[in-house]
Amino acid sequence: MVAVHLLDTPTAPLDNEWMESANCKGRTTLFFPPKAERPQARARREAKARRLCMACSVLEECRSYARTNHEYGFWAGESEEDRHLAGFTVSAPIGVRARAAQG
Ligand code: SF4
Repeated sequence: MVAVHLLDTPTAPLDNEWMESANCKGRTTLFFPPKAERPQARARREAKARRLCMACSVLEECRSYARTNHEYGFWAGESEEDRHLAGFTVSAPIGVRARAAQG
């Protein structure tokens, strides 16, 4: 299954009007890791995503949405691991488990 950022889906709920102002529209590849992504590539990808987020006018709404819905991927300047540490763990946090297993 290919992850698709909700902000790129044409069926996104209409009550989330803040998504219309998202800086990340059309940038799905920055917000979800490709298969077998190396740690250095992940850091570079997330740094680019974070720069978009830090300049985004709807960062707070996005962060609340991603935390509340336990979303996968990178949202509002936060990775899945960041949300996990903030108490908003996704149901199957692949990245968090893989890094925890590495010690
Ligand atoms: S804060 Fe980041 S992920 Fe959220 S809408 Fe803005 S650019 Fe997209």
